Amino acid sequence: MASSNGTLAQGSVLKGLGVGLNAVVAEVFRVAPMQALPARAKSTKSVDEERESLRGAIGAVGAHLDALGAKVGSTSAEIFDALKFLLEDDELFEVAEGHLAEGWAAAAAYAMAVDEFAELLGGDPDFDERVKDLQDLSKRVQAEIAGIKVNLELPIEGSYVIVGEDFSPADTAQFTPAVVGVITISGGPTSHTAIICRSRSIAAVVSCADAVDLVDGDVVLVDPVGDRVVVGGEISSATQAITFIETGREPIIPVRSNIGSLEDANKASAANANGVGLFRTELLYLSATSQPDVASQSASYAEILAAAPDGPIVVRTIDAGSDKPVPFLHMPHEENPSLGVRGFRLIREHRGFIEDQLHSIEFARAHTNREVWVMAPMIATASEAREFADLARSIGKFKVGIMVETPSIVTQIADLKGQIDFLSVGTNDLSQYLFAADRMNPALGLLLNPWQPALIRTLARIASEAEAAGISSGVCGESASDPAFAVVLAGLGFKSVSASASQVGAVRSALSATSENDAKRIAAGALEFSTAEEAKAFVTAELSKLN
Ligand code: PEP
Ligand code: MG
Repeated sequence: MASSNGTLAQGSVLKGLGVGLNAVVAEVFRVAPMQALPARAKSTKSVDEERESLRGAIGAVGAHLDALGAKVGSTSAEIFDALKFLLEDDELFEVAEGHLAEGWAAAAAYAMAVDEFAELLGGDPDFDERVKDLQDLSKRVQAEIAGIKVNLELPIEGSYVIVGEDFSPADTAQFTPAVVGVITISGGPTSHTAIICRSRSIAAVVSCADAVDLVDGDVVLVDPVGDRVVVGGEISSATQAITFIETGREPIIPVRSNIGSLEDANKASAANANGVGLFRTELLYLSATSQPDVASQSASYAEILAAAPDGPIVVRTIDAGSDKPVPFLHMPHEENPSLGVRGFRLIREHRGFIEDQLHSIEFARAHTNREVWVMAPMIATASEAREFADLARSIGKFKVGIMVETPSIVTQIADLKGQIDFLSVGTNDLSQYLFAADRMNPALGLLLNPWQPALIRTLARIASEAEAAGISSGVCGESASDPAFAVVLAGLGFKSVSASASQVGAVRSALSATSENDAKRIAAGALEFSTAEEAKAFVTAELSKLN
């Protein structure tokens, strides 16, 4: 039996919510994810004090670059010298001093100066990398002033289960191949940590409050199917997922894949998905500091469409805002960003970008000759749905649809008859807004459990109202990546599901092994329960009997 260094006894079971179907045993590596940088603020100190603080931070970041340079060979060290040169640029410092004189605090003044330089250099592809470097340096200087650690500093060798409060998209981008398991203390099943882990087949348990007591060196079993972590647990004791009988039949409804990159498109093809049910276009631009033009967008979309699996490809227009800020859109600070200007609401300030996107998607469609459907995220009213449908149809030969993510649009599906071709339910956001539970708030993971009766009943309403209105309906939120839940969705009447590429195989097996009648019966049964646990237990037991 593995040994534990921490306070938790061997065999302790920590409950959470599992993500994916793979279990793993490995050593714990605790991380403190990077906190958000403070908002840009005016100073209460003197200009001289702020100037000193800025000099000190630039000096400290410079020393860190020297240390990194010393660790690598002489050729790579030049990269760090070049970065230091940028960091210590006199002109940049002078511009920052100008902002200090206007009363801004050191971090804000430096960030503003870097933005201005980036703006000057932006748009010229030769300077793209420099602009990225400058923005990264700006982040490091601001973090230094605020006393925030920038990097996760994850191991690059060995196998570890990383444990942290929750991980932002920027944190997950730093996951190394040594990360074989992830446990979050907070963070729910729809958080980006969950989405990334599922897509990379990393074993994960989220919303695991007791994981606060795990320490470096503890060896743990991450058991997603059992919704638990076991201290010192053996891999042989991992809960087995239901194994569906291989029938060789096609699934009762198409199983599409969610993608966000060319790599995902290739994975989805390898997994035999029936097309793409959600192409999250914003994921291509999470670190873009300048707006991609039509030519570069068209090229990216075309290569992804060409690589996507056979079947329709549902492309979502940009879903920026809230937890997915896109730097070049310069979104204002909002008190409640998930209730703010995100998704289709960006049309007011950024109509040009959304139109460019649709033109680029149309170019890629015509170039690759693929069947493309387009949809808009975060639609709250029938007028918004109509506005998007008219715009999309004026630009390209698409089927046109919307995401159903707000309770308001759930009540207006009948009004959309004849206006849109399809709808796709984003259960991640629909749960967030139905339960008034921020999907990024680590404390609220249990409300975001897709087995919650209120979500299942809302889904039943959407499927039947879409059917009555002649609108094709699908589900592309994370819930559709759970094979047992996908059976419920088919039984409720959805015409397709879209899962993470890594889950397509498992969802296909479940929907091939279950007959339409059994799916309907199981879905009807699932609607009867008043707790998530009972609904899940009922469906799991019914499916086990059949398989
Ligand atoms: C959703 O909200 O369920 C969804 C699929 O969109 P995203 O996770 O990208 O917000
Ligand atoms: Mg969403």
